[in-house]
Amino acid sequence: MSRDRHPDWCARGHLCGLGEHRARPIALEHPGLGRVVLTRIRARDGREHAEVRLTVALAGTELVARHQLLTLTNDLDTVLTRAVYASQRPA
Ligand SMILES: [Zn+2]
Repeated sequence: MSRDRHPDWCARGHLCGLGEHRARPIALEHPGLGRVVLTRIRARDGREHAEVRLTVALAGTELVARHQLLTLTNDLDTVLTRAVYASQRPA
């Protein structure tokens, strides 16, 4: 990776390095409940991807926590499917 050829969206500085360019992260937050941090990344080989980190507070009751995890798994599958197929739509 050439350090002087950052894409215009690269945050540069300490966020860019280790063989990849990284945009400034976008954070969505519901205080005390959950948080999503999304970052655009260009790897050393030139391919780009979105890194998504999700944190969700789980209920203290095991049954409810398991229901939350099941719902979360299904919803993440929907998000992944939509994101993958959105890239295959004709312009
Ligand atoms: Zn960079």
